[in-house]
Amino acid sequence: TKKIKMIAPLVEMDGDEMTRIIWKMIKDILLTPYIDLKTEYYDLGLEYRDKTNDKVTEESALAIKKYGVGVKCATITPNADRVKEYKLKQMWKSPNGTIRSILDGTVFRTPLIVDSIKPFVKPWTKPITIARHAYGDIYKNVEHRFTGKGKAELVFTSESGEVTSKVIHEFKGAGVLMGIHNLDASIENFARACFNYALDQKQDLWFSAKDTISKTYDHTFKDIFQEIFDKDFKEKFAAAKIEYFYTLIDDVVARIMRSEGGIIWACKNYDGDVMSDMVASAFGSLAMMTSVLVSPDGDYEYEAAHGTVQRHYYKHLKGEETSTNSMATLFAWTGALKKRGELDGINELVDFAAKLEKAAIQTIEEGVITKDLAELSEVKEKKVVNTENFLKEVNIRLAAIL
Ligand code: NAD
Repeated sequence: TKKIKMIAPLVEMDGDEMTRIIWKMIKDILLTPYIDLKTEYYDLGLEYRDKTNDKVTEESALAIKKYGVGVKCATITPNADRVKEYKLKQMWKSPNGTIRSILDGTVFRTPLIVDSIKPFVKPWTKPITIARHAYGDIYKNVEHRFTGKGKAELVFTSESGEVTSKVIHEFKGAGVLMGIHNLDASIENFARACFNYALDQKQDLWFSAKDTISKTYDHTFKDIFQEIFDKDFKEKFAAAKIEYFYTLIDDVVARIMRSEGGIIWACKNYDGDVMSDMVASAFGSLAMMTSVLVSPDGDYEYEAAHGTVQRHYYKHLKGEETSTNSMATLFAWTGALKKRGELDGINELVDFAAKLEKAAIQTIEEGVITKDLAELSEVKEKKVVNTENFLKEVNIRLAAIL
């Protein structure tokens, strides 16, 4: 059979350790036999990042801006141990952080749902996507610890020299203080990314904050979302038959436990940090969590939500067998291929990606799984396979579907 042709290239960002091994296996076993894969390749493996003084990371992000769609393998964010291990010139920054700041994007994390793996929260039959605002609040805070009496004030000096000040508290003893901020521009980009993504997915969007308590800070988030919605998205949402609504974070927490899922939940930075881990663990496994970064201009970068699975890599290096779950990385590829296909009008590519996803889900549903799912799967006759054989099993089913 003839291979599927592509028009524009996908921006391919290779990575580290076990996920780098999986990356190549996915391409060799499931992609290149069927697609004339056209990618612009960037090696974000730590060695090459070090060699290029991390320029390659920046270049890859700019390539996504140019072409609109990228797919990224998990990468090491160096710490002191990694600096030694890889004899690095310096402790390079997190590639995801660098890419996110260039694209000014919002990260959407979605669990993969499989019938044979029941979420810990009973009514959740559809995925819940968490959209986390990735700028400011306590992640860019200024903190102060003091041990004696004193007065704390919030002081703002405008560009023209006008000073406004408010008393925070008159302290009669020791305490702590924190200053946080956010930017209208960043909140606007976050709101747009969420509205666009909801339209793209045809799913309702919920946004939560605590404006009853935080009458200016959180209220500003709420207002900005509402203004942008009313101005640019209301009609589009109506046409797509989806809804946007704002409610208090405690209200969403209560509602979400009783909902069937199938929604996008937009969260402020800290809430998103906490809730995405809760949602991931309730759905079963980090290895089944996909992630996509969406820029306000509509650029997409797909990846797995997990890291490089270091422990498995060391086993692999020793020649031992591994059973690493490749689902999230595989779905990063299918997500990117689908998006590329949609943008370029290549139905065959969109169709292929959907069938590959179906084959992968079917494999797990038939009880052919990697070790991490062994305890979660409810299938009676389980067959726990190694890293490579899992992908081969997917390929058998893919070939049958095709
Ligand atoms: P990790 O996600 O690699 O592993 C966390 C735990 O989950 C481990 O116990 C691991 O065995 C398990 N796990 C994760 N994915 C799995 C899979 N696909 N199959 C089976 N088990 C899986 O995170 P970590 O160990 O904290 O970090 C390892 C490296 O990954 C670090 O160098 C870190 O900087 C990097 N990291 C990268 C990203 C990214 O690129 N997006 C995200 C997180 C961590």
